[in-house]
Amino acid sequence: MSAYILEKLCRSCKRCLNACPNEAIKMVGPQPVVQPELCVECEECMEVCMHGAITFRADKEAQANG
Ligand code: SF4
Ligand code: SF4
Repeated sequence: MSAYILEKLCRSCKRCLNACPNEAIKMVGPQPVVQPELCVECEECMEVCMHGAITFRADKEAQANG
């Protein structure tokens, strides 16, 4: 399972992009998106996100609850 960004909570601050050691997060328009094949599950992005927008529940339920 890779990190997953909840669009509703994300403020596009890009802290997670800068924190990711593997450049697994890229911007798609205003929205950061995790590329699962590059994610090494280090949780660095989750630690720096001040808006609680990053989860490891990569399912639609998490998105709905966000
Ligand atoms: S650190 Fe959090 S709020 Fe900032 S861009 Fe990443 S997911 Fe969005
Ligand atoms: S868990 Fe680590 S490797 Fe995966 S997106 Fe977050 S910072 Fe990048």
